[in-house]
Amino acid sequence: MARVFVTRELPGTALERLAAAHDTDVWPGRRPPPPAELRERTPDVEGLLSLLTDPIDAELIAACSNLGVISNYAVGVDNVDVAAATARSIPVGNTPGVLTDSTADLALALMLGIARRIVEGDAFVRAGEWVTWEPGLLLGHDLHGATVGIIGFGRIGQAVGRRLEGFGCEILQTSRSGGVDLSELLERSDFVTVHCPLTPETRGLIGTEALRRMKPTAYLVNTARGPIVDSDSLCSALAQGEIAGAALDVTDPEPLPADHPLLGAPNLVVIPHLGSATHATRERMADMAVDNLLAGLAGERMPYCANPEVYEATRA
Ligand code: NAP
Repeated sequence: MARVFVTRELPGTALERLAAAHDTDVWPGRRPPPPAELRERTPDVEGLLSLLTDPIDAELIAACSNLGVISNYAVGVDNVDVAAATARSIPVGNTPGVLTDSTADLALALMLGIARRIVEGDAFVRAGEWVTWEPGLLLGHDLHGATVGIIGFGRIGQAVGRRLEGFGCEILQTSRSGGVDLSELLERSDFVTVHCPLTPETRGLIGTEALRRMKPTAYLVNTARGPIVDSDSLCSALAQGEIAGAALDVTDPEPLPADHPLLGAPNLVVIPHLGSATHATRERMADMAVDNLLAGLAGERMPYCANPEVYEATRA
C-alpha cells in the first residue's frame, strides 16, 4: 500500500478504487490546498493526484523524496514542472482524448454565444426591456459560412473543425507542424479560436500585435489556457473596438477577481473554465487519472503519460 495525496474530491467513484488499494489522503476543501499545506501533506507520499490549479513545481517535487508518480486531472500539464519530474524519472499522467468533444462543444457554444449575443439577450429579458419583436434588436453576426481560424490543430482543434464543417465554415488552422501562417490566420478569420497548450512559446501569443492583425469585426474565443491571451492587450483591444468581441472559458489570472478590468470591457463573455465540465467527461477524467496513478504505483507504464521518455530512460 502506497501513500497518496489527492488535491480535491473528484466526481464519480474513481477515488473509491484508489482508496481501496492505497492509503489515500484527499484534500477536503473546495479551493486548492495552499502551497504550504500542500508541502506539509506530501513529504512522504509516493503518489500525487493534482488538478490544474495546483502548482506542482520543482521545489515541491524536490521536497517529496519518495514521490514516484504524478497524475494530473487535465490534458494540459502546464501546472506541473514536467522537466523536474522527468529528471527524477517520475512519470506525469494526464487525461487526453476523453475531454476533447466536451471542450470542442463548449468552444462552439462560446462562438455562438458571443456572436449571437446570447448572454446580453438573457440579461435584456430579465431586465424587463423586451417590449416587442424589433427588426434591429440585438443584431449579431453569423457563425455559418464564416472563416474560422483554429490555433493549435490537435485533438480539440480538429474536433472544433469537424463541428464547423456542419456550419459551412472555411477553416484556417495553424500549429508548429503545419497549416497557414499565424499572421494570415489572424488577418483572414471572422472567429479565432485557441486550442494550443500553454508553453513558454504560447504564453502571450495573442497580445497587442496579434489582436491588431485581427479584423475589427472578428471574435476571439479561448478555451485553451488563460495566459495564451494577454489580458491587458485584450482589454484595450475590446475597449478600442479593435476586435468585435471575445468569449473566454479561461483567463489570466484565474479566477478573475470581480474588480478585474476585463470584466469592465465591452463585448466580452466569460465563464469559469468549464471546457470539460460535463458529468460524463469529468467522471471519465477521474477514472483516467486514477488508472494512471494505479499503474504508476504498480511500476507499470501509465496508460496516458505526458513524459513517456521516463520509460525509455528506464529501459536504456
Ligand atoms: P493536443 O492534441 O496536444 O493539441 C495541441 C495542438 O497545439 C497540437 O496540434 C500542437 O501541434 C499545437 N501547438 C503546440 N504548440 C503550438 C504553438 N506554439 N503554436 C500553435 N500550435 C501549437 O492537445 P488537446 O488535447 O487538443 O488540448 C489542447 C489544450 O487545450 C490543452 O493543452 C489544454 O491546455 C486545453 N484544454 C482546455 C480545456 C478547458 O477546460 N478549457 C479542456 C481541455 C483542454 P504542434 O505540436 O504541431 O505545434
